[in-house]
Amino acid sequence: MTSREIRSRFLTFFKDRGHRIVPSAPLVVKDDPTLLFVNAGMNPFKEYFLGVSNPKYPRVADTQKCLRVSGKHNDLEEVGRDTYHHTLFEMLGNWSFGDYFKEETIGWAWEFLTEVCGIDRDRLYVTIFEGSSDADALERDQEAYDFWKAILPEDRILMGSKKDNFWEMGDQGPCGPCSEIHVDIRPEEERRKTPGSELVNQDHPEVVEIWNLVFIQYNRKADGSLEPLPEKHIDTGMGFERLCMVLQGVRSNYDTDLFTPLIREIGKITGKDYGQSEEDDIAIRVIADHIRAVSFTIADGQLPGNSGAGYVIRRILRRAIRYGFTFLGAREPFMFRLVGTLVAEMGEAFPELAEQRRLVENVVREEEVSFLKTLEQGLARLDAVIAETRGKTVDGGRAFELYDTFGFPIDLTSLILRERGYELDRQGFDAAMKEQKDRSRAASESAAEDWVKVHPGPASEFVGYDALEARSRIR
Ligand code: ATP
Ligand code: MG
Ligand code: MG
Ligand code: MG
Repeated sequence: MTSREIRSRFLTFFKDRGHRIVPSAPLVVKDDPTLLFVNAGMNPFKEYFLGVSNPKYPRVADTQKCLRVSGKHNDLEEVGRDTYHHTLFEMLGNWSFGDYFKEETIGWAWEFLTEVCGIDRDRLYVTIFEGSSDADALERDQEAYDFWKAILPEDRILMGSKKDNFWEMGDQGPCGPCSEIHVDIRPEEERRKTPGSELVNQDHPEVVEIWNLVFIQYNRKADGSLEPLPEKHIDTGMGFERLCMVLQGVRSNYDTDLFTPLIREIGKITGKDYGQSEEDDIAIRVIADHIRAVSFTIADGQLPGNSGAGYVIRRILRRAIRYGFTFLGAREPFMFRLVGTLVAEMGEAFPELAEQRRLVENVVREEEVSFLKTLEQGLARLDAVIAETRGKTVDGGRAFELYDTFGFPIDLTSLILRERGYELDRQGFDAAMKEQKDRSRAASESAAEDWVKVHPGPASEFVGYDALEARSRIR
């Protein structure tokens, strides 16, 4: 089954069950000081859960572009090293706003995975919320347990803690238990040796979480206590690339048709084939992943820049350029040449990408040209700094110099240091940064300057907050 077909089967399945299919909201969150990018399918619907506005449809389904590179959800460090976390990914989701609840959600998820997708039932595990003995004193989610018990053997229903199986929007607001579905794609003989139940939520690359079903049934009040919600809601999110991995019978998201054309193109351009060395493979995966994140974000109107969301994009792009430079020998701009391949694969599902192809190519190429100018010198400088370093911690002031003079984002410097077995004195960096900022306060930037509206997109329906995200924002 091709990824296009899988996406369309999901949407059709829920359309047939009374859901309104809506387009993905733009990735870049505007008019919200606390969230830079959409990082879950539910973000665009927060208003409904908060009761701020009334939903137009009680049942909705879509595939939502998500970016997890900052704040509460930051998967950047995993990307390329593992085979199932991306910066940008699609989250398939179905929602009920005060309409159906646990029984239908669980039943449909199971029906979709086993009957529509044909996943072997023996490979599926589910988790439910086990309850908590903290101040909330919550009981285990017996309802969810009972619905699952009617479907699959009890030894495949696992108990999960608050961390994995209780979802909260923030310090206050709607929340509730969730039930997650995990799939075990290991070969038969390995499965016989170790039951999948032991590997769920253990970061095993072949026993992965695919679908999160959230049952929004409480409201967390300002005083920290919980009250039952009068209207209960459903919020689900399934990782599309992971689903494609399972259905295409491969062992890595990067072996699905979402990534293989990009990986082939990277090989053609750099002369490095995938699967020859682990070090190069990481670089290839990082580049294939990052070009998606950068392209989709630019197509949604966020240009690379020096602050806010723009700097996140610049950082991701520079990270990919450096991987290409160091491991694949890429000395000339090459990432922009991948955009056409990406458009060929995704332009139909996301027309905004096809429409903005030229803009994306031009912006990426210019960024590459400008960073490649200083990259080589910067790397040489970093070599010199390392050579002078006594011990294993590299001076933060020196890292600041690299940032300031050569445009090395700090996470890039620390990534390179880690590769060489060194650490970065982060406090020293922050202090140097602060000192410079104090000196040039007049030149304070505004994130809005980096924003251009390139397509109208669906009207932004999002209001909300995410305090954690705001606190850990870049700069
Ligand atoms: P994980 O535990 O694997 O990091 P999660 O619990 O953080 O996933 P959720 O917030 O529950 O993920 O998101 C819903 C679904 O989105 C997950 O079940 C997974 O299939 C998918 N997903 C989450 N993060 C990523 C990512 N970085 N790349 C690709 N898919 C992801
Ligand atoms: Mg995660
Ligand atoms: Mg998880
Ligand atoms: Mg989850």
